[in-house]
Amino acid sequence: MTVNQNFRKLQSSYLFATIGKKVREYQAANPGADIIRLGIGDVTRPLPAASIAAMHAAVDDMSRAETFVGYPTDYGLHFLEDAIQADYALRGVRIELDEIFLSDGAKSDTGNIGDIFGADNIVAVCDPIYPVYVDTNVMGGRAGELLPDGRWNRFVYLTCGEETEFAPALPDSRADLVYLCSPNNPTGTAMNRTQLQTWVDWANEQGSILLYDGAYEAFITEDLPRSIYEIPGARTCAIEFRSFSKTAGFTGVRAAYTVVPQELRADGAQVNALWSRRQATKFNGVSYITQKGAEATFTPAGRAQVRETIAYYLHNAGTIRRGLEAAGFRVWGGVNSPYIWLKAPHGLSSWAFFELLLHEFQIVGTPGAGFGPAGEGYFRLTGFGTAERTAEAVDRIRRRYGEL
Ligand code: PLP
Repeated sequence: MTVNQNFRKLQSSYLFATIGKKVREYQAANPGADIIRLGIGDVTRPLPAASIAAMHAAVDDMSRAETFVGYPTDYGLHFLEDAIQADYALRGVRIELDEIFLSDGAKSDTGNIGDIFGADNIVAVCDPIYPVYVDTNVMGGRAGELLPDGRWNRFVYLTCGEETEFAPALPDSRADLVYLCSPNNPTGTAMNRTQLQTWVDWANEQGSILLYDGAYEAFITEDLPRSIYEIPGARTCAIEFRSFSKTAGFTGVRAAYTVVPQELRADGAQVNALWSRRQATKFNGVSYITQKGAEATFTPAGRAQVRETIAYYLHNAGTIRRGLEAAGFRVWGGVNSPYIWLKAPHGLSSWAFFELLLHEFQIVGTPGAGFGPAGEGYFRLTGFGTAERTAEAVDRIRRRYGEL
């Protein structure tokens, strides 16, 4: 009896457990403390009313034999894929229905995609990064060994520094699978057309595949690409992951999709056919009720409600960004993203700044070091709180930060 030895290599995910423990301890020692949580990575606003109405109606469909639906492969309905296709078309992007794969989350898809690629591929990741890309490739046997600096010896780490607003630079060595996330979690910055075109051209030249995580595309407010397929050449080198989670508040409902173009080939195989085979074998589809809720986000009313909620989070992010800038912090993100990334002042470590924010201001955020070694010295705040509490938190910092 053996286990998958790669799992032994995984480090425990201490980040949010450690944050929780520190906050509880502080609260026990300071029972009256009014703590504001700005580290939250989950949405807090309710689902769009259009989705709620559609889901209620879908429940009723399930109550009658004539309208009941079962396994997705059997009912042959493509209403959600149709709506997604039409949504891409609004951006001038043509996607075929059989290139859209519905799923229960971008976490599952960005994690599972490794199933169809060989374990000997070289994986490139940004640092800092959404930890799922790293851990799932550790599980898949592509990481090698953990080095003392917290990096894996078989990964290629892409430099993502302040100079480029944390946009990753091309690697100077081979990389077969490259994870790109824009707008980025945790740095909150989004890549522009030129940067994405550089990646697409490089990937086509190298025969590499870009795994493009667009989970936050709905937060883009500036004139930036919202899909990798807006970039010429992307259909032969990129897979795109999208989700209804942060877009429409579906974190607790679960709906997402992945686009794999027919032209995309790897090692002589059609990648779309491999992913189709993988999904057909291991996944039985998104619930009909959920799909109806997701479809409703593309109706005129649904779109307006989604826009309103995103604007709410972006307003909070703007409040944090402007407030911290006024207090003298160096800040990124918060314009095309719910995330604000800041440099801990005076050379403080991520965790030292965490303690300072908690003890001096009763504000909780997320230490950048939790997103990879290069996140050390940085800190993440988010716009997912309420407008009132976000304003209160920023006010606390603005009023008293200068005195410290
Ligand atoms: N991708 C990124 C970059 C994320 O930050 C998250 C969630 O925080 C996800 C994917 C997961 O999305 P989903 O809820 O669709 O699984």
